Amino acid sequence: MNFSPKLLALKQEVLRESAETFQQLDRISEENTLKVLDAMRECKVSDAHFNTSTGYAYGDIGREKLEELYAYVFGSEKALVRTQFVSGTHALATVLFGILRPGDELVSLTGTPYDTMQTVIGYANPSPGSLKEFGVLYRELPMVDGRVDIDNIKHVVTKKTKMVEIQRSRGYSMRSPLSIADIRKITEEVHRVNPACVCFVDNCYGEFVDTVEPTQAGADIMAGSLIKNPGGGLAPTGGYIVGRKDLVELASYRLTAPGMGDELGASLANNRLLFQGFFLAPHVTAQAIKGAVFAAGLFTKLGYKTLPLPTDVRGDIIQAIELGTAEKLIAFCGGIQKYSPVDSFAAPEPWDMPGYADKIIMAAGTFVQGASIEFSADGPLRPPYNVYLQGGLTFEHACLGIMGAAQAVEDLVPKKNI
Ligand SMILES: *Cc1c(COP(=O)(O)O)cnc(C)c1O
Repeated sequence: MNFSPKLLALKQEVLRESAETFQQLDRISEENTLKVLDAMRECKVSDAHFNTSTGYAYGDIGREKLEELYAYVFGSEKALVRTQFVSGTHALATVLFGILRPGDELVSLTGTPYDTMQTVIGYANPSPGSLKEFGVLYRELPMVDGRVDIDNIKHVVTKKTKMVEIQRSRGYSMRSPLSIADIRKITEEVHRVNPACVCFVDNCYGEFVDTVEPTQAGADIMAGSLIKNPGGGLAPTGGYIVGRKDLVELASYRLTAPGMGDELGASLANNRLLFQGFFLAPHVTAQAIKGAVFAAGLFTKLGYKTLPLPTDVRGDIIQAIELGTAEKLIAFCGGIQKYSPVDSFAAPEPWDMPGYADKIIMAAGTFVQGASIEFSADGPLRPPYNVYLQGGLTFEHACLGIMGAAQAVEDLVPKKNI
C-alpha cells in the first residue's frame, strides 16, 4: 500500500488548497447537525422508539416518531420512512403511481431522467407495469448546457400538467446538479404557470448537501434512498417520501393498499439504525463531499477534466472524472476496490447490466450492499470514459481510496523522471 512520492506531494498540495472549501463543508455539517438535533429534541425522541415491532405493527411508535422527525427536518407536513421501500427508485415510483391517474400528464423538467426512472415511466424504455401502460402522458423539457431551461417551462407546463419531476442530482451524466436556488426558481415558475401542478423532486444524493432542502424551497413532495445520504451509512435498506400531507397520503396507499396507507408496516429491529443513521447523516454527507473535493483536486493536478471543479459549489455528492481510456477506467475502479474494507481482494470487471446500452464497471466494497453513501465508483465503458465517484463514510477512507485509484492509473503510464 505504497503511494509514489509524486502522489504524496500532490496530496499535501490538494489538502492545503482545499482548506477553505473544507471549512465551508464543516459549517454546513454543523448547521445540519444542529437542525437534526433540534428536531430530535423537539420530537422528544426516546429509547422506547428503538424497540422492535412485528406483524401489522399498528401503532408502532418508533416508526411514527421517525416519520415525524423526517417531516420536521425537511420542513414538510408528512413523511413515509420505510425499510419496505426496496430502493430509491421504489420510493420515487410510489410517488408517481400514488398521485398520477390515467390521462394525467407528467413533465420531466430535467431532461431524460435517471435510467431506472425511465423504466418506471416507460416511454424511452417500454416496460410492463410502467406509467405509460396505465395511460399517464409524459413529456420532457431538455436541459440546455446542463441547466434547466426555465424560460421554456411556460411552454411545456400547461393547465393540464398534473406533476413535474425535477431531478436534483446529475445521476450518471455530465449535467450539473441543481442548487437549492435553482430549485426555488424552477418551482416558482411552475407554480406561476399552474398553481395546482405538483412539483416533485428526485432528491437522491442531495440531502444535507445544503442547509435548505427542496421541500423548503417550493417542492410539494420529494423522495430518496436510505442507502444514500439520509441513512448516514447505518440504514440497512429503505427509502423515504416527504411533502404535503395529502400527497404523501396518496403515496402511502400505493406503498401498502388503498384504505391502509401508512398505518401499518413493521419496522422490525431497524428503528435504532434509522434514527442513528439520520443523526449521523449531516456529518457523513460532508465526509463524502470532502472526498469528492479531494478527488477533483488530485485528478485536476494529474491533468484530467473533472466535474464539478475542486472549488465549485456542490449540489450532490457525486464527482465525475473524465479518464479518457477504458484501460484507465478499469485501473481506477481496481484501485478503489483494493482500498475497500469489504471484498478488497476482488477485481472489478466490466459487465452487461440490464437496462444499460454499454458495459458498466463498478467498484464497491461496502458493508450495505450497493450503498452509495459508502465509498464507491462506477462508469460506462464508452468514450470519454467518465468515472463517477461517490460516498465515503469517513474522509480518511475516501482519501486513501482516491490515492489508490490515482496510483493504479499512474502505474499504467510509463514512468518518467519523477
Ligand atoms: C440513486 C438514484 C435513484 C434511485 O436509485 P436506486 O438505486 O433505486 O436507489 C434515482 N435517481 C437518482 C438521480 C439517483 O441518483
